[in-house]
Amino acid sequence: MYRNVTYSPAYTLVPTYECFNQCSYCNFRVAPGEDKWLSTNEATERLQVLLGKGICEILILSGEVHPRSDRRQAWFNLIYNVCERSLSFGFLPHTNVGLLSWEEMEKLKQVNVSMGLMLEQLTPRLLQTVHTRAPSKQPKLRLQQLEWAGQLQIPFTTGILLGIGETEEERSQSLAAISKIHQRYGHIQEVILQPHSLGSQQALPLPRFDLHQLPDIIGQARAILPADIALQIPPNLVNYPDLLLACLEAGATDLGGLGPKDEVNPDYPHPVPEQLRSLLEPAGWSLSPRLPVYPQFDHWVCDRLISPVQHWRDFFAQIPS
Ligand code: SF4
Repeated sequence: MYRNVTYSPAYTLVPTYECFNQCSYCNFRVAPGEDKWLSTNEATERLQVLLGKGICEILILSGEVHPRSDRRQAWFNLIYNVCERSLSFGFLPHTNVGLLSWEEMEKLKQVNVSMGLMLEQLTPRLLQTVHTRAPSKQPKLRLQQLEWAGQLQIPFTTGILLGIGETEEERSQSLAAISKIHQRYGHIQEVILQPHSLGSQQALPLPRFDLHQLPDIIGQARAILPADIALQIPPNLVNYPDLLLACLEAGATDLGGLGPKDEVNPDYPHPVPEQLRSLLEPAGWSLSPRLPVYPQFDHWVCDRLISPVQHWRDFFAQIPS
């Protein structure tokens, strides 16, 4: 009898790499004004190539344009249009583009089956270190966004970044804050435990996070978070077979979106599902695809998204486990 772990067959579209924040560990950012934004036509061309390949989720991931910039509206419109275009091909959009206003979230709910924002860490201490020049990383603003997502009934993915200078106690406090918000609104579908992984483009190297702590951290997270929240670990960042299996034994239930490139950690390519299966199955685990919205939230998606969600539920149900 196999136990099951899930993943999302996904492809990432990046409207822009430019970002007004400067997190010192970032491997994604380009300075404002120095990036050529994705056009809707380019997005269309990339989406066309994905048809018929079993890819369900389009992750829309972007650097942030300052809320008071005169380019903010153009940035938001591009994100919205990329979501619309993804839907027009039958894909399911999941947007994670940093801090948004209530109105922006409300609009994006119309074209997304779920959305996401990493809490990262709750402690404001990091505003003096890795987030000195990252105003969007103020924990109170991120908590507010999690809260708005609950009020707007948006199925939501969040998570914490491990190894950016937080203490063990601060990690637990971050998870406890997520748990508290979920108990109020019931909208957190998954929590990502993302180990900071040194990359070739980051401004400042941080001490390497000891990956072998992960099974214990997963156990702690499982004890803090309600059982209906999935726990996700990125297999490209936990790239030791025994450790990955230990993470599953400790309570991780999902391996996130797997696609051609991890845009946030470009030095760490995703494994393909077949590679993972050959590791997992001998250890008694099956690997199955899932949608970017978990089934308990299907009744929250907007009317126009119901039919594509049902299509993908039926499609994955036909795949033998
Ligand atoms: S980590 Fe995200 S918010 Fe920070 S600089 Fe990079 S893209 Fe911007």
